[in-house]
Amino acid sequence: MQQPTCFQLDAPDDAREWHAKALALLERYEIPPTPVCHLIAYQYASGRSEELTQTINTKIAAKTPLDSYLLKDIFDNACHDQEGAEQIGDRLSDLHGLLFQVLQGVTNACSHTDLFNETLHSQTQALSNNPSLEDLRTIANTLLDATSTAMHNNQVMREQLVSVEEQTKTLQTEVEKLRDEVSTDPLTGLYNRKALSQRMSELLEAADNDLTQPFSLLMLDIDHFKQFNDRFGHMIGDEVIRRVGMTMKELLRQDDFPARYGGEEFTIVLPSTKIDDAVDIARTIHQAISKLVLVRRSTQERLPSITVSVGAATLQHGDNCETLLERADQALYLAKEGGRNRIVTEAEISYM
Ligand code: GH3
Ligand code: MG
Ligand code: MG
Repeated sequence: MQQPTCFQLDAPDDAREWHAKALALLERYEIPPTPVCHLIAYQYASGRSEELTQTINTKIAAKTPLDSYLLKDIFDNACHDQEGAEQIGDRLSDLHGLLFQVLQGVTNACSHTDLFNETLHSQTQALSNNPSLEDLRTIANTLLDATSTAMHNNQVMREQLVSVEEQTKTLQTEVEKLRDEVSTDPLTGLYNRKALSQRMSELLEAADNDLTQPFSLLMLDIDHFKQFNDRFGHMIGDEVIRRVGMTMKELLRQDDFPARYGGEEFTIVLPSTKIDDAVDIARTIHQAISKLVLVRRSTQERLPSITVSVGAATLQHGDNCETLLERADQALYLAKEGGRNRIVTEAEISYM
């Protein structure tokens, strides 16, 4: 197993420098130096993970205040990937073992069959050499023995194959379950960001840039979400995120692909959907979310209504994952700028 880079022993001078930088970063954003936050800040200071550096730099450039949620998100994603990869690796090696067993079974069966064929051949020759009565008896006995051995071997082989088939099915189910877990966001049950990138890449490849199979993208962000955390605590904040996720999932079609992009932000990929239809879907979701009623169980207090801002974009010539996401994100930004609780499409982005 490859050791995670965070457990490497760094040179003492490097470690001191990165530790100091990590602390400075945490202090700048008033993030408590919990082990997880420190680990991510330290990794960032070391600059050895391009992906992590890019994620954090993008947030800083967008003037998004870093906080413990963001760092925890990054940590969870990294652990989740690694855990999933390890578990899938284990299952694959089980499968490999199983296939090896099958091959051995087949090889054995073949060698038994070869032996049977040889016996048949030799006894046929013996038959054509004017056999005596005694010879005939021996030939008959040899053939009987060979046949009964072959039948027994066949029976054993059949049983082995049935058991191997059952085990293969179990392993297949497990591998599929693991694949689902690796692509799912644990809080909402929606897809995670990694799965989103993969789905978008598949759709981009299918569209092959000739736009015969257009698809659209919605980016949703809960408005003033911080107030839920600040007024009611993080558990209620989590519940708000979960309910928003469930609402969009319930309203989407089979092939639509809802993902939690991070924090209180969601992305929905809408295959074979033009921008006008995407806006209709956005409207339905937007309305349903605003009608959600959440009641705090302990006090029966009704939470403020939830609204979302939505940015919509559709595939254009020369797009890749980043450019398409970027336009949906710009449209979302405009929705926020315009007062939140609204849907904006990329058509409203002014290009200078
Ligand atoms: P805006 O209308 O501009 O979107 O404002 P906002 O308050 O929704 O957005 P902002 O980005 O200022 O705050 C989002 C907060 O969400 C910051 C972070 O503390 C919190 N957060 C991120 N992930 C989670 C999570 O998984 N659970 C909870 N409870 N809070 C989270
Ligand atoms: Mg928000
Ligand atoms: Mg946000």
